[in-house]
Amino acid sequence: MAKRVDMDADVLIIGGGSAGCMAAIRAKELMPSAKVVVFEKGQIKRSGSLCCGMDGLNIVSIPGKDSPELYVESSSIYVEGIEDQMASYVMAKRSFGLLQKLEGWGIKFPRDEKGDYQTLRVHSKGKFLVAMDAPELKTMLADKVLKSGVTVVNRTSATSLLTKDGRVVGATGLNIRTGEFVVCKAKAVILTTGGCARFGLPNSGYLFGTYDYPGNTGDGYALAYQAGAQLTGLECTVSYPLIKDLEAPLLYITLPRGAQVTNVDGKPLGEGHVPMKVILKEFEEHRDPAFVKMTHLSEEKIREIESVLFSTERPVQQRFFEQRGLNFREKPIELKPTEFYLCGGHGITGLVVNEKAEASMPGLYAAGDVANVPRQHLTGAFVFGEVSAEGAIDSLDKTPQPSIDESQVAQLEANTYLPLAGSGKVDLATFEYKLRRLINDYAVPPKNSYKLSQAVEWMDKLEQAWKTEVKVSDSHELGHWNEVGHILSCARLSAQASLERKESRWGLWHYRSDYPERNDAEFLKHLVVQKGEDGATKITTKPIQGGVL
Ligand SMILES: Cc1cc2nc3c(=O)[nH]c(=O)nc-3n(C[C@H](O)[C@H](O)[C@H](O)COP(=O)(O)OP(=O)(O)OC[C@H]3O[C@@H](n4cnc5c(N)ncnc54)[C@H](O)[C@@H]3O)c2cc1C
Repeated sequence: MAKRVDMDADVLIIGGGSAGCMAAIRAKELMPSAKVVVFEKGQIKRSGSLCCGMDGLNIVSIPGKDSPELYVESSSIYVEGIEDQMASYVMAKRSFGLLQKLEGWGIKFPRDEKGDYQTLRVHSKGKFLVAMDAPELKTMLADKVLKSGVTVVNRTSATSLLTKDGRVVGATGLNIRTGEFVVCKAKAVILTTGGCARFGLPNSGYLFGTYDYPGNTGDGYALAYQAGAQLTGLECTVSYPLIKDLEAPLLYITLPRGAQVTNVDGKPLGEGHVPMKVILKEFEEHRDPAFVKMTHLSEEKIREIESVLFSTERPVQQRFFEQRGLNFREKPIELKPTEFYLCGGHGITGLVVNEKAEASMPGLYAAGDVANVPRQHLTGAFVFGEVSAEGAIDSLDKTPQPSIDESQVAQLEANTYLPLAGSGKVDLATFEYKLRRLINDYAVPPKNSYKLSQAVEWMDKLEQAWKTEVKVSDSHELGHWNEVGHILSCARLSAQASLERKESRWGLWHYRSDYPERNDAEFLKHLVVQKGEDGATKITTKPIQGGVL
């Protein structure tokens, strides 16, 4: 039996990335005496999609320049209407206050000669991206969390949510270094585990060579589903055209600064902001590749782009381009779609939440890429990190001390350590490779009824093999094994939801060859996925919530 460690929290935050750090800081600002615990699967100083820094807050509505209503309009166009407007509105409304708070912490937002923030156009309407110069944003946030007296439990991966009488009352975790089983009771739980980056297999074939942070394996989606919470947008499998072989961002940095996206013949696919859908179409219709061209830009502009790409965004980019002999002044940069993945920050996949970041079960909040606030990016992670902490702290004096069901804990512990007791022989990396190859074969676009049904069947078969045939020899591999189980669950849920959405929507992201047209009459609504009483997946629909436009 693994050693068990018991903890108590007022607020338990699962995931110490952008949203988790912000939630922890806000909870302590509001109630310094509150016991706030963060479970972080990696090391909080560098974990998550932020990991170092970022070059822009992608959604900021600056008073007097743009409006939150215009943002909602623009966002709704992008997600083709599948959006509850109020949460996006609240995010945009609070975004400028967030920027000012970050500025107060010393984060730089460059201004032009008139003293205005540097804004860039990346949405269909308005200029909502505000340039940011923050190469060490993640370490700064982590330091703030640690200084505020939050208990951070690094290398501890949440493996399940604890429930009692329909309420979430804590979580269990596995310390991947020591193998300890951690049980934390909490009055409120905030899920901030990001999306499912390790979903489809990247073109490179490397398991961890994904665009989004590879430690994000859909754990939050899987844990919430198992506990009985509602999820939505699982059928929206996203992929972005990025730098071939590096899977690093390029478009939002280069296009607003004058770069062009061209087709294989060097013809521009549009001017300025070119929607991802238009670029992906080149690949979908086999006219690929596409390129980002900067050869026409002034030396000054190219240097500006290089300084962003090679410092704040990803220092590795400089080495990558140098080693390949690629100079932006001379050659265009080849694009390639990333693997397909699930994400509430870039796509729409997530727990069903309202504008208060409350999930569908009492005691549970969700913020950032794990929550369904469409394409909320870093702004959403920060804003709803704060909003969730406000709700959680506010709930404390109305919530009795949580008690946990020991028989449930025993079952969850047995599930977490299952392969250690077995005699599996299949290497874990090989198993993950096969699982994600089958995701590529059957669960991602172009989708159709045959392929999606195959995906569901394969996930059922692979689940059995995952339980009995995989070899795990230490606690680190046990953590990896649990992650693979979460990827598997996400794939099954995504295929099941995709089967139900009998139409095509979001360009390539949910293209069904058997239903190639968008069908608003039947599908302008959310598909909600939940575990039914009988243990099978239940899919219902939910109307779109307006209220802003
Ligand atoms: C390369 C890249 C560039 C980007 N650039 C920009 C940009 O310039 N501007 C912008 O606005 N947005 C940008 N984004 C989007 C933005 O970074 C994300 O939307 C945001 O950081 C998501 O925050 P999060 O807290 O939801 O997830 P993350 O920050 O990824 O955090 C999730 C955390 O949860 C932890 N975790 C996962 N599972 C578990 C578990 N079971 N138990 C414990 N811990 C767990 C992970 O280790 C991680 O630390 C970018 C994203 C990427 C990938």
